[in-house]
Amino acid sequence: VSTSYDAIVIGSGAGGAAAAFRMVKAGMRVLLLEKGTTLPLDGSTLDVRQVVHEGRFLSREPWLDGRGRRLVPEEHFNLGGKTKWYGAALFRFDEHEFDSDAQHDCPPWPISLSELEPYYCEAERLLGVRRFEREPDLARIARRVTRGAAGWRAAAMPMGLAATIEQHPAEAAHFDGFASVRGLKGEAETALLSQLSDQRNLTVRTNAEVALLLPAAGQPKRIAGVQLRDGTRFEAPSILLAAGALHSPRLLARYLRSNDLDVGSSAALIGRNLKLHLLTAMVALSPGLKGDLIRKTTVFFNSHFPHSTVQPLGFDGELIATLMPRVIPGGIRKALGRRAYGFFLQTEDGSHPDNRVHDAALPVLDYAESRLPVAANEHRKFTRAFQRALLRSGMISFTQRIGLQGTAHACGSLMCGASPTHSVVNAKGEVHGLSGLYVVDGSVLPRSSRVNPALTIYAWALRIADLIGRDFVRDSSEGSQPEYTHAAT
Ligand SMILES: Cc1cc2nc3c(=O)[nH]c(=O)nc-3n(C[C@H](O)[C@H](O)[C@H](O)COP(=O)(O)OP(=O)(O)OC[C@H]3O[C@@H](n4cnc5c(N)ncnc54)[C@H](O)[C@@H]3O)c2cc1C
Repeated sequence: VSTSYDAIVIGSGAGGAAAAFRMVKAGMRVLLLEKGTTLPLDGSTLDVRQVVHEGRFLSREPWLDGRGRRLVPEEHFNLGGKTKWYGAALFRFDEHEFDSDAQHDCPPWPISLSELEPYYCEAERLLGVRRFEREPDLARIARRVTRGAAGWRAAAMPMGLAATIEQHPAEAAHFDGFASVRGLKGEAETALLSQLSDQRNLTVRTNAEVALLLPAAGQPKRIAGVQLRDGTRFEAPSILLAAGALHSPRLLARYLRSNDLDVGSSAALIGRNLKLHLLTAMVALSPGLKGDLIRKTTVFFNSHFPHSTVQPLGFDGELIATLMPRVIPGGIRKALGRRAYGFFLQTEDGSHPDNRVHDAALPVLDYAESRLPVAANEHRKFTRAFQRALLRSGMISFTQRIGLQGTAHACGSLMCGASPTHSVVNAKGEVHGLSGLYVVDGSVLPRSSRVNPALTIYAWALRIADLIGRDFVRDSSEGSQPEYTHAAT
């Protein structure tokens, strides 16, 4: 058992990497444990065949859905987590999205936007968020969509991409759903962990899956260590859960179950209120050839659908062509692909306690959008409204709903809130009823907003780690060692 860490972070995605970054900068000795491995830099992560068609980098872990059918959620276990693959649309949530919205089944955050604001700024700076000029084809589409009085508005997208990405067409056409080889995407490994490579107070272990949380000796309500799948144990006074919204709740539930612990009403909420966003992919076709490169430069809002947005997919025509049904002859698919633009429509889903993950011999992902009829209705109408707007612009479109395995935006399963009756985690990231355990991944989000969640996860993690780091600095300057007990072995 090593005793040389001030904090252990479980998982290296958006939340885990941001928390580790901030605590290392505060001088803490941090151990970062990642279940996956480092991605190769040999170009395979940009290869359409290996990434999209063979799914080489996707998880193979089987789950069950709510009806007991087998399911493999689309997950990525590697250093940097899902951020290595994400589309780098790095939005802030709006001020009103921190409040409750009872009609849409959305609970409030325990903090306001102003409390997260400095950390949003820091995250944007670290990840190199910038806005790109709207490219000609999209500019034409946006002009036509926003013309008229149907409530449409277009705005520049905040993107975590290097300004020079356009000089590397293979990367500029393949960043959304692919992992950069040249470090041109602002993600958890490139923008955070790699910046710490000369810091001796960070230890990163890959292929290190945490199987159990461990109590302090004789203090089951105090978490003081972790055990890996291979039995190795580590201990530290602060343990940060950042394994992602499908995994962190299961580690916590397993801990309470195996220690037969009663931590009050919040325990019943662990894994519940899972949110995924309601998602639709759309391909729009028009007679003209499409030559835009980055594509993902503009987001569309509509005042009649306040919980929804549309953004282009960063997919080029060649990739879109490979995703078309095989019954269409190859030549026609290519010709259509060259005339196609992809879009991604998302609507915030509300929270429902029966939408949940739970820990069993095979983990269970029980989620049904029929439990959220208001959100489902908005998503349907929003999709039709965008299709109509495209049609007015001379584009015909086809849609595909993203099914249950589309867990890219999973969050909410360890919701933060002001009271233990309605939440699992408090405003400081601590699990109600336990000490020494914090949650810094997407699990905490009580609302996921109408835009993508990653920037908010980074910001939350920076904030919680900042609070932990400040306590550490204060305790160190007062000469007192942080209260610390060895993990029971
Ligand atoms: C294709 C794709 C496109 C996306 N596009 C966008 C976008 O444009 N904008 C946006 O904001 N969001 C986007 N997202 C979503 C975004 O990536 C996630 O919201 C974000 O990464 C979640 O961060 P996290 O820290 O909660 O979890 P993750 O990033 O999933 O990190 C969790 C980490 O924990 C590790 N782990 C799991 N279990 C254990 C364990 N037991 N022990 C140790 N380690 C463990 C995992 O391997 C993983 O590395 C996209 C996601 C995908 C997949």
